[in-house]
Amino acid sequence: MAHEHILIVEDEEDIVELIRYNLVKNGFKVTAALTGDEGLARARALLPDLILLDLMLPGQDGLEICQALRRDDRTAAIPVVMLTAKAEESDIITGLELGADDYVTKPFSPKVLIARVRSVLRRKRQAPAKSEEAIRVKDIVINPGRHEVLAGGKPVELTFSELRVLHLLAGRPGWVFNRDQIVIAVHGEGYPVTDRAVDVQIVGLRKKLGARARYIETVRGVGYRFQEQA
Ligand code: CA
Repeated sequence: MAHEHILIVEDEEDIVELIRYNLVKNGFKVTAALTGDEGLARARALLPDLILLDLMLPGQDGLEICQALRRDDRTAAIPVVMLTAKAEESDIITGLELGADDYVTKPFSPKVLIARVRSVLRRKRQAPAKSEEAIRVKDIVINPGRHEVLAGGKPVELTFSELRVLHLLAGRPGWVFNRDQIVIAVHGEGYPVTDRAVDVQIVGLRKKLGARARYIETVRGVGYRFQEQA
């Protein structure tokens, strides 16, 4: 996989140059954008293999860009690694909720950044194709490829992560998944997400499912499962 194309969206030019230098040295092809709007336009036009996305940007910020990328079919599957000066858990959780694959906290060492980029690209290549399969269970249809969920025939708006969690659970009704398995299914292995982040996603998912929230059962001390088919 030589010359994978990385898009850097970052407004600080010295950081852009530091990243560019190290990526090029490691055999990557690099394009840079200095604003969020330019980054989004480049992502749509170039369809890079991975996007390094700064959180604090003029105009649309990193979280808005991440959301826009995930909502567009053409860019929904491009891995995103957030660059954040803020180590606060809330920003990181929000970013992951919006579908970012990993994050690096500034200041970072180029070696660590390259390692993260490689690991995210590797993870994406190994992602099983069956995670894109549409499934129907009870009166719910989940189509990850189209980022679409229908409950009783009506569309339900889910975040990228919520859809992944629902797809995992509903793929094996009655089967209990612990929080680690849920995190891996959503983001891949080696991911520093807290149990609480999984619980937050379940809460959001149940709220959006309304009366069908009961389909997702809590198994105390273990995790969650989708209610077995009657
Ligand atoms: Ca910035």
